[in-house]
Amino acid sequence: MTEEKWTVTFVIYRQKEGQPSHYDRYILEVDPDEYVIDGVERIWAFHDRSLIFSHACHHSTCGACGMRVNDVEKLTCITKIRDVTTNGGTLKIDPLRNFPVVGDLVVDMTRMYAAMDRIHAKAIHPLSAAPLEGKGIQPPKDVPQNNGSEFLRLADCIECGLCISACPVAGTAENYLGPAVLAAAQLQGLKQNPDLLNLVDCSNGVWRCHSAFECTAVCPSNVDPGWRIMDLRRQVVKERIKRWFGKG
Ligand code: SF4
Repeated sequence: MTEEKWTVTFVIYRQKEGQPSHYDRYILEVDPDEYVIDGVERIWAFHDRSLIFSHACHHSTCGACGMRVNDVEKLTCITKIRDVTTNGGTLKIDPLRNFPVVGDLVVDMTRMYAAMDRIHAKAIHPLSAAPLEGKGIQPPKDVPQNNGSEFLRLADCIECGLCISACPVAGTAENYLGPAVLAAAQLQGLKQNPDLLNLVDCSNGVWRCHSAFECTAVCPSNVDPGWRIMDLRRQVVKERIKRWFGKG
């Protein structure tokens, strides 16, 4: 932090259920090395307790504070104010796109979580079953017990949804699995998880992507979903050829 002080106008998207959306303006004095989420929290604490936003860890691990800052998807807990505006400037804050708005800056990411569950339900990740033992819930019988390396959910992706918000295809095809989900499938691997093939080799899977790479540009976790989708396409073609020749 510095002694420097900036005056910044936060222009915040507001929407409550059943009411039309609008923007509210708040003028704050900020340290430019503060993060955008700090400004949003201060607005909630000192200006308007009705502001709805989500946040948790404050160190880019939980993925809860994704928003659009001046029209670009950002994880606001790691986005310094000085990197996205200037002294006397404006910060326009919107909820993520391509998800329904629950209220103000909070969106419903069921679309992504449900698709993630479809991927991981078909993938082999034995460590995920281990904590369930002793709680009356039994892991599936066919889960191998000898390869913990395949428990990969959240290994890199923090499921923040920024990539789906930035994706131009996700905005036009609501059943498109989306970058984070296809990246998760690529991480699991089709060779190791052949049941994933039909899930991703379809019109709402790898072939829907237009290779815009907006997902990769905004991903705060270096997952590089754009590259993973291209690699998943290669895996799909390889597995299909193997099946055609009876080797899959
Ligand atoms: S792939 Fe990157 S941008 Fe997309 S949900 Fe995962 S961490 Fe977020």
